[in-house]
Amino acid sequence: MLKVSGKETDVRTATVVGAYPPWLPKLDNDGWALRSESCQTPNYGVRRVALVRGEGTRVWDADGKEYLDFLAGISVNNLGHCHPRITEVIRRQASALVHCTNLYTIPMQIELGRLLLDHGFADRVFFGNSGAEANEAAIKIARRWNRENRGPDRHEIICFEGSFHGRTMATLTATGQPKVKTNFEPLLEGFVHVPYNDLEAARASVGERTGAILVEPVLGEGGVRPATREFLAGLRELCDERDLLLIFDEIQCGLGRIGHLFAYQHYGVEPDIMTLGKSLGGGLPMGAMLCRERVAMAFSPGSHGSTMGGNPLASAAGHAYVSELIQGNWPARARETGEYLVARFKEAVGTSANIKEIRCVGLMIGIELYARAPEVLVACEEAGLLINVTDGQTLRLLPPLNVSREGVDLAVQILGEAIHAHPAEEAT
Ligand code: PLP
Repeated sequence: MLKVSGKETDVRTATVVGAYPPWLPKLDNDGWALRSESCQTPNYGVRRVALVRGEGTRVWDADGKEYLDFLAGISVNNLGHCHPRITEVIRRQASALVHCTNLYTIPMQIELGRLLLDHGFADRVFFGNSGAEANEAAIKIARRWNRENRGPDRHEIICFEGSFHGRTMATLTATGQPKVKTNFEPLLEGFVHVPYNDLEAARASVGERTGAILVEPVLGEGGVRPATREFLAGLRELCDERDLLLIFDEIQCGLGRIGHLFAYQHYGVEPDIMTLGKSLGGGLPMGAMLCRERVAMAFSPGSHGSTMGGNPLASAAGHAYVSELIQGNWPARARETGEYLVARFKEAVGTSANIKEIRCVGLMIGIELYARAPEVLVACEEAGLLINVTDGQTLRLLPPLNVSREGVDLAVQILGEAIHAHPAEEAT
């Protein structure tokens, strides 16, 4: 039996902008949790909050409660919710053409592709619907390029411990976190894992069968851990020496998140293949694999594809989003906001012994605690701040790149209070 909202009055009196969308059944958070439990596969666990509306950095749940969103859909809503420019383009495109197939030329897809290529190293782009699909495309093109140019045995890809590349069979095999692989065996053949930021280990693992190296410039799910410049530059050298393809997974750290349009620009190290996802579609599902010309030619008609990848609606939204990122200079502004946030945070929590390390690149921020991160998360949520916890004890903050200083001040205040209220016994 579903629990129908006992708080419908609250819902009806929510502020205008946070009003409950009239087309949704009127359930509260608990009601939606029960409804979810009754029909959805249990892979996401029980969720306490059902979000029904968003505007800028703010979102509202089904109980009418307002939050400051410092997770941005895990770096998807990078210009905040319902950005007027993106919303307008979605409206316009939805009334012209939502979907056709890649059997036909899709002008908006070409426009978005051109924009990405004109601002980075790549010559060619393939569009899919998610980050995992972008990485699948990267893995497939790397295998095919090696097979066609270097022989049938060079199919092995060196990956890194702590990495996350997706949930499809190839991308979970590439992922360097055992927990995502449990009971999905047998995994794919041809992926090896070495410690992150350990150039010597990477070098030692190159063999006759190695064809590519796949790396996140900043580990996202792995706890917001940036690569060192020396590590990525060393991988580039290694790939050049041994004729391997270097693949950067920028699905979480790309598109402005770490202070440059593309994460490789922060490091000054160019890959041969780069994958994008998350915010790429301006909130609509989209992923992309970008590569150099010599790599792209390993794909031929019929060798790869996607029914929905880069459809007119997602491409139009993505084009509006990337255009706004570039024209608004949001990556550089995000870098300044990140510095401001960390400075304010250090002032606010200077005395907490529960903080182990603060890691920040641009507006990708990880605050590693000694203990009790899940409790801090709940306290933040109760006080109206959405963040998440990754890699055990790391609080992850991925606010919209255009978050205001006032928004940052409020988030820091809530976060500081939540951390102070949860000292780590072993750290005090
Ligand atoms: N790669 C990285 C670095 C990610 O952070 C993610 C998702 O969190 C993925 C790949 C997979 O993306 P998606 O969930 O869109 O398939």
